[in-house]
Amino acid sequence: MSAEMKTPYQGNRRTCGYFECGKCSKRWFSANSWANCNQKCKSCNTNVYPYKQVKHEKSDDPPKEIRPHPQEMCQKCRQLGFFCGSRIASYKR
Ligand SMILES: [Zn+2]
Ligand SMILES: [Zn+2]
Repeated sequence: MSAEMKTPYQGNRRTCGYFECGKCSKRWFSANSWANCNQKCKSCNTNVYPYKQVKHEKSDDPPKEIRPHPQEMCQKCRQLGFFCGSRIASYKR
């Protein structure tokens, strides 16, 4: 176990992530959740890692998020500098 493992999933693909804020107990779901990437809680701004990640059935055809993906809340988007749900993001390491 390395210290780098902050999320249940450790691959290069996008997953569906389930988040629960440890501070305010807010729960949310994201169709764009990545290994070792947190998302910010909308309520209290805490960085939260997903407690559960589920691989997409078809990685090339990701389901749409119900709400627009909050890029400013997503660590992966900030690292990439663009929307992490775009096709290029899956192939970038
Ligand atoms: Zn919170
Ligand atoms: Zn993102």
